[in-house]
Amino acid sequence: MADIPNGFTGFSHRDPNFVSAGDAMRRSRYDETSFVTRKQERSVFDAWQPASAASPQAVGSRPVAAQSEVLKYAESSSVQAGAPQFDPDKLATIPEADRRWSWVEIDLNAIRHNASTVKHRLNPGTLLMAVVKADGYGHGAVQCAKTALNSGAEYLGVATVDEAIALREAYVNAPILVLGEPPATAIPLLLAYKIMPSVYTAEFAIRYGEAADAFGVRAPFHLKVNTGMNRIGVRWDETVEFARQIMFHRALDLVGTFTHFATADCPSPVDFERQVKRFAEAVNGLRGAGINPGIVHAANSAAAIRYPDVQLDMVRLGIALYGFYPCPEAYPLIDLRPAMSVKARITDVKTLPVGEGVSYGLNYRSPGAVKICTLPIGYADGLRRGLSGRTDVLLAGRRFHQVGNICMDQCMFEVNLRQRNDLDPQIGDEVTIVGEQGEASVTIDQMAETLGTIQHEIAIGFGCSRLPRIYV
Ligand SMILES: *Cc1c(COP(=O)(O)O)cnc(C)c1O
Repeated sequence: MADIPNGFTGFSHRDPNFVSAGDAMRRSRYDETSFVTRKQERSVFDAWQPASAASPQAVGSRPVAAQSEVLKYAESSSVQAGAPQFDPDKLATIPEADRRWSWVEIDLNAIRHNASTVKHRLNPGTLLMAVVKADGYGHGAVQCAKTALNSGAEYLGVATVDEAIALREAYVNAPILVLGEPPATAIPLLLAYKIMPSVYTAEFAIRYGEAADAFGVRAPFHLKVNTGMNRIGVRWDETVEFARQIMFHRALDLVGTFTHFATADCPSPVDFERQVKRFAEAVNGLRGAGINPGIVHAANSAAAIRYPDVQLDMVRLGIALYGFYPCPEAYPLIDLRPAMSVKARITDVKTLPVGEGVSYGLNYRSPGAVKICTLPIGYADGLRRGLSGRTDVLLAGRRFHQVGNICMDQCMFEVNLRQRNDLDPQIGDEVTIVGEQGEASVTIDQMAETLGTIQHEIAIGFGCSRLPRIYV
């Protein structure tokens, strides 16, 4: 086969002697003749002597580590020998929030409160599944799963096989359901880690059953029924036929049967009720055919809170576990507490004369008598650019307008000295971007509303970004 320009001669067959531009660049990083040689890197590093780094004047009034503080991260023997040898283990002890002044705080007591509050509303015997997909909606899947399991949840739901494996590797033993049907190539992982798939194709079911047989184990699964959301699942009126097609396989265990609502959070119950009816038809059909549907479940957060009739054998709690109301109708029905806050420290403060602009585009102009404070958080951290000039931050228990375009890594806010002349913001002061300070609060609900989206997307934006997560 003729060589093609990228050096590949076909799928995963690469000419061993081919050097691509990328290879050349990677190689040159370690090449003594390249722009920064290892020797030069070393000399740059040598120039950073603890004594000069520790000089507080060098960085103005910013709190910095004193010389003795810095020295404790080096091996003392080598420091005496004159060559700074920083100890990676000691360096690793510098907390994430001391490396960059922005972070996410997760209040696990709120998760505990939300799980147990929902659990107490359930009929006796109804199971609670904590849905911890997308790293627990950005709150940390492992921590939230463990907290929920200690607060009344019995089951876990995730979106992917790898999310389930991460829980198993953190010693989480509860039953885990993947809420979709994974590729059949992932079946060995399901069996090895005891992870249940959702099933809606016969091909997957048979391959899953056969693989389990080969290992001499069972193949437990939940059957996914499509009752009108039209995302995944066996059509409700084809469920019995489907079950008959696959259930001959001796290793397959139908542990549960479920569907998902498209409109449980919408004001009108019409479409919701149609789905309930279709699901009942499917489940009754199974029972009529002598097939035990196992754990029957349908309700997400909105349905679990609004429609006690569809609690059935289990509810799947996602957004409400993290303290968000899935819809306004849920406000009077339950007390939920948001678990996520987002915080940062001021990195710069300046007084701007009238007319000076701020940030890319200089869209905001100083009205005079304002201090502009900078925060090291931007849209790469989940603070969506669409919120530019449309959100507030909290400092000293009061609200201030974010101003100018939100940048990738930073943003600015305004302290109006005509209204707040008693406030003297300083570098290092803590600011709340999401959360409460005294009576004042900025919520993910407000941000979602401003952006025309749902809280899930905003929470995941912060929680799954590069911001460190701190549990309180
Ligand atoms: C994500 C998901 C849930 C949880 O939904 P919330 O509205 O966040 O409670 C429940 N069931 C399925 C199938 C899901 O994909």
